[in-house]
Amino acid sequence: MTINYKIKQIEILLTKVKYENSFLTKEEKDELLERWISSTDSNRKRIHDFMDPDLSGFVIGVQYSAICDDRSCDFCQSHNGESLKIDDPLIKENTPPIHLGCRCIWSPITKIEFERGKINFTWSTIKKPNLDLITF
Ligand SMILES: [Zn+2]
Repeated sequence: MTINYKIKQIEILLTKVKYENSFLTKEEKDELLERWISSTDSNRKRIHDFMDPDLSGFVIGVQYSAICDDRSCDFCQSHNGESLKIDDPLIKENTPPIHLGCRCIWSPITKIEFERGKINFTWSTIKKPNLDLITF
């Protein structure tokens, strides 16, 4: 699962991957590693906070939020706006970063949002990209 990759594994991956047929420069590797670390830390913390027992019955789900532009991948664009119930095991395996350069986050869904009919719990079956997919 993405959330369980170790920093060392990502550092090794960064020495092997190519972007537009070239190995990465030190600056590119540093940027992707920094983005990986900050995305992993912040998404892990967000999910942990949303699952806090004190919020039980208030945060009832999470919504995938991607920045949809020419730098986002098909997987992230397809899941943008889709939601999972807070106890869905798919949350863990789909917690960003999904790939190198992924900028996605989980956002909380409250009971009130759901009751106002703004949320449907849906999740597409689009295949997850390889971890070594790079978006800058
Ligand atoms: Zn993404």
